[in-house]
Amino acid sequence: MDANRVVIVGGGASGLVAAIAAARKGAEVCIIEKLDRVGKKILATGNGRCNMTNFNEQIHDCYKSDQAFIRKVFRSFNVDQTVDFFDRLGILHKVESEGRVYPFSGQASSVLDVLKMKIKELNIETIYTNPVVKIENKANIFRIYLKDKSVVASEAVVMACGGKAGPQFGCHGDGFILSESLGHSVISPEPALVQMICNEWYNKRLKGVRVKGNAKLQCDESVISESKGEIQFTEDGLSGICIFDLSRDVHSCIKKGKKCSVVVDIFPEYTYDELQLIFQKRLSYSTFKTNEEFLTGLVNKRLIPVILKLSAVQKSDENCSALTSKQINRMIHTFKEWKIPVAGTRSWEYAQVTAGGIDTKEIDPQTMGSIIIPGLFFAGEIINVDGICGGYNLQWAWSTGHIAGENAAKPICRGFKV
Ligand SMILES: Cc1cc2nc3c(=O)[nH]c(=O)nc-3n(C[C@H](O)[C@H](O)[C@H](O)COP(=O)(O)OP(=O)(O)OC[C@H]3O[C@@H](n4cnc5c(N)ncnc54)[C@H](O)[C@@H]3O)c2cc1C
Repeated sequence: MDANRVVIVGGGASGLVAAIAAARKGAEVCIIEKLDRVGKKILATGNGRCNMTNFNEQIHDCYKSDQAFIRKVFRSFNVDQTVDFFDRLGILHKVESEGRVYPFSGQASSVLDVLKMKIKELNIETIYTNPVVKIENKANIFRIYLKDKSVVASEAVVMACGGKAGPQFGCHGDGFILSESLGHSVISPEPALVQMICNEWYNKRLKGVRVKGNAKLQCDESVISESKGEIQFTEDGLSGICIFDLSRDVHSCIKKGKKCSVVVDIFPEYTYDELQLIFQKRLSYSTFKTNEEFLTGLVNKRLIPVILKLSAVQKSDENCSALTSKQINRMIHTFKEWKIPVAGTRSWEYAQVTAGGIDTKEIDPQTMGSIIIPGLFFAGEIINVDGICGGYNLQWAWSTGHIAGENAAKPICRGFKV
């Protein structure tokens, strides 16, 4: 066996970058991929455009989990290095709103194509349609068992096989089982960046309505997280970037037996007092209008009957001059603090990322090496770190992939004497 052989389990975003980084350091690299091709998920990212990273200077704040660990990772391989890495592969980038970075071509396939070109140029071997089913480590040698019963041996392994989000892209949580069998701990994986399920009477009526606002995830009465942006009503719940960003904590709240809800402010631009003034002024102009007509021009028309009902204004066709101050206060309260009970989230098929994964306490952030087994490395979504929408999860995959690949190729980082 070549003493400098690195096996990469999973040919997704982090695995492909890890393979390139390891090969550039002189290692003989082999990628083992479960599906019949590599990078299937990359093609689906950013609605086919691949939101590959983000120039947000406070990037660390956009991840959940161990902040110190995340900062150390980005000190080793940051956004500028990533953009440079892809620039050298051939990706001209463009920056869109909120610092989101996309390939100039507008095609996620370009990102995958340039990675594959480099893999080919570096003579990296790829085994397809053959998932890793078992890994053994004896006397610092890994034996990697594949589904077809063949065995690959190596002195370094990079676990880059993702989490459980998107089983249609090859991710069923295999990496968690394989890593646990090697002695690692897994923080319970939950779907994140996913639609929420709500069983309220108004869901079907509001299907397709979008509002821009602020939202908080509440577990009983405690606020767990906050976000702002688009909130979209769906047939069975809530969607939109703002909702996706809050979704990671829904399951943990429900598992604790607590009531989970999203509290939406659809008028974040105005305070309660400002809305009071707006309402008073509108009332003085609107004496000829019904309650329903009174709200026309304030919110999406389809929201109006729902807002009236939630604010206990029973008659939508009654003249609005009969509205009491109590009813007005209730309407303003609904606008500012609309509490929508959440029953759960959609399944793994709909999730963009996994919250939970390999405990960061068991990984050295400088090398991405296991602190339990020398020669074992981790990259990407398999690790207990998840980002919000905006290119942060791919950036995590690129950074950790690069660090893991480079270090897996250095025998000294694998616990061997050189
Ligand atoms: C629809 C969608 C859109 C997204 N859009 C964006 C976006 O625009 N920006 C962003 O930052 N993030 C986005 N994400 C998230 C991002 O794609 C992932 O976080 C990222 O791809 C994770 O990289 P990874 O290498 O860890 O895992 P993956 O890219 O999931 O790759 C894991 C690979 O391992 C393989 N594998 C699994 N088990 C085995 C096994 N036993 N043996 C061998 N191979 C195995 C899988 O087949 C897969 O190819 C999106 C996700 C989805 C689902």
